[in-house]
Amino acid sequence: MTAPTARAVSTTPATAAEPAVRRIGHPLVARRLEVTQVEELSRSMRRITLDGPDLAGFVALGPADHVKVFFPGPLPALDGHENLALPVVEDGRWVNHGAPGLLHRDYTVRTFDPAVGLVLDMVVHAHGPAGRWTGQARPGQPLGVLGPRGSMIPPTDRERYVLAADETGLPALLNWLDVLPAAAEVEAFVEVDRPADHVALPERRRTQVTWLHRSAAEPGTTTLLPDAVAQVQGLEPGRVWAWAGAETTAVRAIRQHLSGRGLGRESFAMTGYWRRGEPNFDHHSEDA
Ligand SMILES: Cc1cc2nc3c(=O)[nH]c(=O)nc-3n(C[C@H](O)[C@H](O)[C@H](O)COP(=O)(O)OP(=O)(O)OC[C@H]3O[C@@H](n4cnc5c(N)ncnc54)[C@H](O)[C@@H]3O)c2cc1C
Repeated sequence: MTAPTARAVSTTPATAAEPAVRRIGHPLVARRLEVTQVEELSRSMRRITLDGPDLAGFVALGPADHVKVFFPGPLPALDGHENLALPVVEDGRWVNHGAPGLLHRDYTVRTFDPAVGLVLDMVVHAHGPAGRWTGQARPGQPLGVLGPRGSMIPPTDRERYVLAADETGLPALLNWLDVLPAAAEVEAFVEVDRPADHVALPERRRTQVTWLHRSAAEPGTTTLLPDAVAQVQGLEPGRVWAWAGAETTAVRAIRQHLSGRGLGRESFAMTGYWRRGEPNFDHHSEDA
C-alpha cells in the first residue's frame, strides 16, 4: 500500500459559532496524468495509481477529499488522436464546464505520495462510463484530474465515530480509519455485494467493522446501512461524529435517523455519493 497523505487533524471542539468541519481552500488546478499501476483490491474494486509532472503541488488533507476525474469520451479515438477532453482553468476558475466531450465523475483521494503518485480506489461496474473505464484500466492510459478545490477537515477529537459506506464510500472510510486517533472508538458499516468484495482493513484497536451483504440485490436498493446505524446505541451530541458515503437514499435515511435522535450538524456531516438511475449525480445538490 502506498504511504498515506499527511492529513490534517482538528482537535478543537466545535462551538455554536464555529462549524464542526473546517474548510481549507486550495488553488484549483487541472492536471493531465497517466495510469502507472492497476491493482485488484477485491472483485469489484481496483486501485488506480496516477502519476506525472502535473502532480506538483497536489494537496489533499481531509479523509473525504475528492477530485473530479476526466475520462476519455465514448467515441473511439481517430487516427491516434486521443479522445480525452480536459478541464480548462483560468484565474482559478473552471471555464469550459459543459464543453462537448468532457466526461467527469468524482473520486476520493485515497493517498497521495509524491514518490508514488495519486492513488484512487475505483469501483468496477457496468452501469456507467467511469465504472466501465475502471474495468478496462491499464498502465499508460491518460486521465484528467481537477482539484481538490478544498479540504474538509472534520473533528478528530470525538470519543466515538460511526462510519457507513457502500463501495463508493469505502475509500474515504479507509482514510478515516487511517487518520483517527487510536483512542477513538469506531463502529463502521460497509455495504458490498458479497464477501469477495471485502478489502483489507488497517489494524486498529477499538474498531469494529461490520460487512453487510446485498447478496445480489441491485446496488442502491437496500436499507442495510440505515438499518445498521439505527441499531447503534448511546449516540451523544458532542461526543460522537457520524459520517456516511453511499447511495443517496441510504445517506438521506441515515441523516434523517440521526436528526430524529437529536443529533445535529455538530455531530455529523454526510452527502450522497451517487443516485440510482441518475448519471453524474451532483453531490452538492439539495437532493444529496
Ligand atoms: C465526493 C464523492 C467521492 C466519491 N468517491 C468515489 C471513490 O473513491 N470510488 C468510487 O468508485 N466512486 C466514488 N464516488 C462515486 C462515483 O462518483 C459514482 O459512482 C459515479 O456515478 C460513477 O460514474 P459512472 O460513470 O460509473 O456512472 P454514472 O454515469 O454517473 O451513472 C450511470 C448509472 O450508474 C449508476 N451508478 C453510479 N455509480 C454506481 C455504482 N457504484 N454502482 C452501481 N451503479 C452505479 C447510476 O445511478 C446511474 O444509473 C464518489 C462520489 C462522490 C460524490
